[in-house]
Amino acid sequence: MTTRRRVVVVGAGITGLTAAFTLATNRPDLEVVVLEASKRVGGKILTTPFAGRPVDCGADAFLARVPEALDLCRELGLDTILTAPAQKSAYVWVNGGLSRLPSGLVLGVPTDLEALAASGIVSADGIARAAQDLTRTEWIDSANGDDPNGVDDQSVGHLIRARLGDEVHEKLVSPLLSGVNAGDADHLSLAAGAAQIAVAARKSPSLISALREQTAAAQTNPDAPVFHGIPVGTQTLTDLLLARLTQADVPVHLSCPVTDLSRNGNGWLLTTPLGPVAADELILTTPAAPTARLLDAVAPATASDLGSVEYASAAMVTLAVSKKDLGVPLDASGFLVAQTDPLPTLTACSWASAKWAHLDDPEVAILRVSAGKHGDTHALELDDPPLVEALSVDLATTMGIDAPPIAWRVTRWIDGLPQYRPGHPGRVAQWRAGVASDAPGIHLAGAAYDGLGLPACVRQGRQAAAAIS
Ligand SMILES: Cc1cc2nc3c(=O)[nH]c(=O)nc-3n(C[C@H](O)[C@H](O)[C@H](O)COP(=O)(O)OP(=O)(O)OC[C@H]3O[C@@H](n4cnc5c(N)ncnc54)[C@H](O)[C@@H]3O)c2cc1C
Repeated sequence: MTTRRRVVVVGAGITGLTAAFTLATNRPDLEVVVLEASKRVGGKILTTPFAGRPVDCGADAFLARVPEALDLCRELGLDTILTAPAQKSAYVWVNGGLSRLPSGLVLGVPTDLEALAASGIVSADGIARAAQDLTRTEWIDSANGDDPNGVDDQSVGHLIRARLGDEVHEKLVSPLLSGVNAGDADHLSLAAGAAQIAVAARKSPSLISALREQTAAAQTNPDAPVFHGIPVGTQTLTDLLLARLTQADVPVHLSCPVTDLSRNGNGWLLTTPLGPVAADELILTTPAAPTARLLDAVAPATASDLGSVEYASAAMVTLAVSKKDLGVPLDASGFLVAQTDPLPTLTACSWASAKWAHLDDPEVAILRVSAGKHGDTHALELDDPPLVEALSVDLATTMGIDAPPIAWRVTRWIDGLPQYRPGHPGRVAQWRAGVASDAPGIHLAGAAYDGLGLPACVRQGRQAAAAIS
């Protein structure tokens, strides 16, 4: 009898579970084992009951224009229950009030300057500055390189400030993109954090013209949903993956942190609370810091650079508020905060019960309020009650809510969101090449590398599974 080669997947977030599920489905010749440090699977995906409904503590939607997460939902039979946000537009807290974001934004970049002017968000000078982009024929930044991998990268802020001016960046692009990773768009890799803009920026010295062309060429149905949500909670996705792994007899060991990694002949030996676990190949889906610790002895150069990737910590505070206490109608998906008008604690607010029909209630509004960003940990240093109080002050300022919430819960995502710095795609390519040469048979996947959204994590899990020999 021949023994099957063993692949160990480290980390049971969406990336690791997808990798293990893909192997369990397609590779009966392999034995697959999953090792997870915490008591549960899902990683950054977590749904718990709140105000009688399944409300997400982390991710609550995934991008519809890329196929990977939707395809996985189809494979798991989840696609039939997917839902689109009930509200398509959002506000931004800017110039001391809430202004509805104009139509025609692509990742915050305005392509309809009339709509932008009508929104009142950007001053007449700011619009005139942005309009210079439309007639620009000379390249004014480094985006005209011919590097499709974005190795010759720059920050989002560098590009947008140069092409469209500071005001458009600080009032539109920065709040939108900084919200995705609780970071700072002035230090965010254009290639890794805003690939759609990077592609357009390389096409023409006029970013607006290139984005208009891109949008027209995509011929997307304007009524098609931009996001999908899972009404029973995003965690259903990872719960179903676990169920399918269990059905396929793939062991998923919880409370099982991998603490060390060493060579074992042509394979690898992992130190775990179960004792040593041998593997022929490994898929590491852990965040950058634990992955760097594991690689330290076997691929030191990669470990050293990977270990320097910074992460932001953020709190997601879910509030139930009586609708009679709201000072504004909940007629959008929520609001972002402009870089020009920072609030003391709140960084974004999703009007969850307006955004999702399944969370709506005649009397109670559910809000998901974000606090904390890279380089600013003061919100995370507060205990739960003072954090809720601090956010209540900001909600009084922005939404006129002057009564205390009916219920609240605080979820802290410490080191939850990787910060992609300019040059990130090039560094990722180097890490992968370094591991391939120093530690063959080890594969890197997950939010630290090629995108932190759910579709990107699913794609990386699939790719890591496909790379197993
Ligand atoms: C507040 C918040 C909101 C978000 N909202 C959205 C959204 O709306 N849409 C979207 O697309 N994305 C969103 N994201 C991003 C997305 O949820 C994450 O990027 C993604 O879930 C990360 O998946 P992953 O598998 O790569 O990593 P993780 O989920 O971090 O999984 C890694 C796993 O490895 C385990 N681990 C760590 N060390 C070890 C070890 N030594 N041994 C074994 N296991 C270990 C961890 O416990 C964890 O379970 C959000 C993220 C956050 C934090």
